[in-house]
Amino acid sequence: MRITKYRQEIIDLLDSSEEALSAAEMHASLPHINLVTIYRNLESFVKVGTVTKLNLGGDEARFEIQHEPHHHAICNTCNKVIHFTVDDEELIREFALPGFSIKNIEVTLHGTCADLH
Ligand SMILES: [Zn+2]
Ligand SMILES: [Zn+2]
Repeated sequence: MRITKYRQEIIDLLDSSEEALSAAEMHASLPHINLVTIYRNLESFVKVGTVTKLNLGGDEARFEIQHEPHHHAICNTCNKVIHFTVDDEELIREFALPGFSIKNIEVTLHGTCADLH
């Protein structure tokens, strides 16, 4: 009963967040849920595909609910993450490797954002 409630709280938090969150950030928003429990739930969500785990090069993995599959651009200066979509079909054609069948493409761009820093 409580486990189901926690799962829902984690999903609701991710769903209402504009940004991808790390487990530690989720724990800060949901302090009554043990960090290990948050991790465990996240991993199970990732496994079934409800939640996407992003390894954006920081210390911690970030998690988000992707209503539409998309890619990420990260600012080297302020760590801002920009979520964007491109024509994946075209990318798949572009990256065609002989003897390899592409299922999906996840692009992470590193650069500088337009903010003044
Ligand atoms: Zn920036
Ligand atoms: Zn995203």
